[in-house]
Amino acid sequence: MSTPNFNHYYTNAELDALLDEWVRAYPTLIERREIGRSFEGRPIWLLVLTNRETGADTTKPAVWVDANIHATEVAGTTTVLHIVHTLLSGYGADERITRLLDTSTLYAVPRINPDGAELALADQPRYLRSGVRPYPWDELAEGVHQQDVDGDGRILQMRIEDPNGDWTVSELDPRLMRKRRPDEHGGTYYRLLPEGMLEDFDGYIIKIARPREGLDFNRNFPYDWRPENEQRGAGPYPTSEPEIRAIVDFIVNHPNINAALTYHTFSGVILRPYGTKPDDQMNTDDLWVFQKIGQRGSELTGYPCVSVYHDFRYHPKEVITGVFDDWLYDHFGMFAFTVELWDIVGRAGITERKFIEWFRDHPHEDDLKILQWADEHIGPDAFVPWYEFNHPQLGKVELGGWNFMYTWRNPPHHLMGEEAARNTPFVLALADMLPHLHIHTLTVTPLDDDAWHINLVVENSGYLPTYTSQQAKQRHAVRPVRAELTLPDGAVLVSGKRRVELGHLEGRSNKHSVTFAYSPTDNRARAEWVVRAPRGTILTLTVKSERAGELTRTIHLEPEGGSA
Ligand SMILES: [Zn+2]
Repeated sequence: MSTPNFNHYYTNAELDALLDEWVRAYPTLIERREIGRSFEGRPIWLLVLTNRETGADTTKPAVWVDANIHATEVAGTTTVLHIVHTLLSGYGADERITRLLDTSTLYAVPRINPDGAELALADQPRYLRSGVRPYPWDELAEGVHQQDVDGDGRILQMRIEDPNGDWTVSELDPRLMRKRRPDEHGGTYYRLLPEGMLEDFDGYIIKIARPREGLDFNRNFPYDWRPENEQRGAGPYPTSEPEIRAIVDFIVNHPNINAALTYHTFSGVILRPYGTKPDDQMNTDDLWVFQKIGQRGSELTGYPCVSVYHDFRYHPKEVITGVFDDWLYDHFGMFAFTVELWDIVGRAGITERKFIEWFRDHPHEDDLKILQWADEHIGPDAFVPWYEFNHPQLGKVELGGWNFMYTWRNPPHHLMGEEAARNTPFVLALADMLPHLHIHTLTVTPLDDDAWHINLVVENSGYLPTYTSQQAKQRHAVRPVRAELTLPDGAVLVSGKRRVELGHLEGRSNKHSVTFAYSPTDNRARAEWVVRAPRGTILTLTVKSERAGELTRTIHLEPEGGSA
């Protein structure tokens, strides 16, 4: 199979065709399931990656990845496709990937929001936050609505000369706009508006309209969901939107998921919970594990890992709620991260900055650095010099400025592939941290003619414990490990129970200290049975963990017995 082009943004039709090709080429490694339909009836595809010949997906620990919940954040889709392709093409060729697919599952939703992506990638695009369902009202609000008014396939900015404008032409580069200083008078000033048309324009008052499609799908999750008066766009109730309902239903029914990455753009940062409260209100052990995993993510991607609450809050006195990663961690104790792909600001050399505060205020020289970087690395399409346009409602305006979609919001096409490639190793690393059940010892010892002693030692070979996190344990979100012996007719259990709770098995993540720390075998558990049955009887042993997989062994009651 040929390598797909990752310097590309896939339309829904192209995505469907690629998934068709993969499912045909790798029938034992990838399965495509429709987990729901969008508001406009487009399928939401979930890809199941595992070697089905070594067991069903649900019998193995899993990692979740998804992308493109926000309509314009199409870089995430290409990133998920890169991850999937890395696994498919590496199976059998790469020892690590072969092991991961033999023993683990990846659930991948390359595009949560096909309706929004359809518009974002159209020849004459529209850029929505999320889906197309009008919310909270059907009609257009008064003010400017983004639109490609001159039909050139780009949605830029409009500038209008106005003595009371808050922008002026930069002294550093005549294309750039600089903010007017507090005491500045006597120059030529402008208002900046999104390229678009005005609803209910009276000739005087210009508002920036809230888009009719006012939903934000990433506020529609069940954790700490809040209504419209407290948080806009969260929908009428948690999981009200079919796209979100589809993934919530799937995740709730797949307790084998331990960790998740959801791909957004932009900023070049790995975000971790909570968004709603400070680190000192989190479980401390979980915080340390989040930091440890995040540190690996940083080493592999080059992106820092920060708490949303501490370092990525849009307003210092407000939090956002009903968000995916908080929901996964708070309700299920999964280690979930939001990856904000792509960072044009960082590419321009502005690396030491506070992510959100930078947007409110930064040295104007930074703007020039970014423009110069774009001139050199993207070309003339990145920043469009201002040109006159006769606007049907506003008269003479100028259009121009950043072609935001493929400069700031997503990488320019030719840099998309390397952005995807730098993020794939973190997914493989997460898969390599999963808990895994193993049989350490399984022996059968004859006691007398037809009594047999069965000795079982189970262990977790993973970094994470079989309960994933303290939060999962406290939430009762994950059942303890169970061992179950199935006896045929004629076999009697003399001691021990058919179903034994083994509790939880630690991994290595609870062993925090890197200085003089000891290593107890708290990743093991033992069970013993005495069975009375004729020699040659065959028993079945299953060991089940929701998060660490399932094992089945056949036990032959023979002097040299044990697992087969
Ligand atoms: Zn986003």
